[in-house]
Amino acid sequence: MRILLIYTGGTIGMVSDPATGALKPLNFREIESEIPALKRLGVEIEYHEGFPPIDSSDVTPADWARLAETIRDNYATFDGFVILHGTDTMAYTASALSFMLENLAKPVVFTGSQIPIGVLRTDGRENLVTAVEIASARHPNGGPMVPEVSIYFQNRLFRANRTTKWSAQQLNAFTSENYPPLAEVGVTINYNEGAIARPENPSATLKISTRLNTNVAFVRLFPGLDPRIFDTIATGNGNGGRNAGSESESSKRGIDGLIIQSFGSGNTPTAPWFFDTLRRAIDRGVHVVNITQCLAGGVEPIYESGLRLAELGVISGRDMTAEAALTKLMYTLGLDLSPADTRQLLTVPLRGEATKQ
Ligand code: ASP
Repeated sequence: MRILLIYTGGTIGMVSDPATGALKPLNFREIESEIPALKRLGVEIEYHEGFPPIDSSDVTPADWARLAETIRDNYATFDGFVILHGTDTMAYTASALSFMLENLAKPVVFTGSQIPIGVLRTDGRENLVTAVEIASARHPNGGPMVPEVSIYFQNRLFRANRTTKWSAQQLNAFTSENYPPLAEVGVTINYNEGAIARPENPSATLKISTRLNTNVAFVRLFPGLDPRIFDTIATGNGNGGRNAGSESESSKRGIDGLIIQSFGSGNTPTAPWFFDTLRRAIDRGVHVVNITQCLAGGVEPIYESGLRLAELGVISGRDMTAEAALTKLMYTLGLDLSPADTRQLLTVPLRGEATKQ
């Protein structure tokens, strides 16, 4: 069993700088000496050193692309992949990878920690050891136990694109409110086999898409949202469409995709300006996806605004997390498909990121 361990940075690899007291990244090689138990797993672990350790707040889609390429380049020679990543944007990176890796048939397990590995009470040791164990676990049928992109954190394994960082302090920093854990870890690792996705064709070639379209915006609605500001973002206009001739070149292009994070079961203001802005944005070719601000549940068009949004052509993001919705939008727009095909991909679950209706 061969596992490729990719260290990208984050708290898990941090030690305190004796000079300043600030946290700084550990030399990657030292991680192994911090966790000698890794050697006892009976798994051959190879370390990938291609990523200079960074705080995950600095991660960009270019890093996601390099991760996808690293997995593709090592896909044939490894049985699974463990990616050490800062917790702050782990759910974004892991969600993005779930879309960028098509026909994935091997485990890609993300993990990290809330307490640096160099600290006695670290949660990183258990997270890393168990993540490696999960990445190397085999199903009785001989294939990998969890052949999808996942996040392992504090005794629970989640589908990556269902996961959100909900706590800045708790050790169980991640939650997946709309999908059950893929595994729960106590004395033994209990896999929830019914929840784990299996590839339809395990021998299909892994295909990666590294072009992401970042010409997108994300607006969390709030009472008091200024119509002009919303218009500027959604249509690149900002004047309610009254003065189109004075638009600058960049604002003429506007955005290609917009996530609106609405209230409750997908509700928005019902004021005419709101629907008018969305109509003009959609007329300009902007793909608009509606998700909820709530951690649990999703968009259900049961109130007036929900029905109006559907009429306008706003796509229901169902029960997707913000991270999944945003990265799916970037991925889908990056494929450069026709508007109809783009819309179709945004409407259906591609990697188990939303509950089927
Ligand atoms: N700021 C850190 C990061 O996301 C936090 C962590 O790893 O827990 O890189």
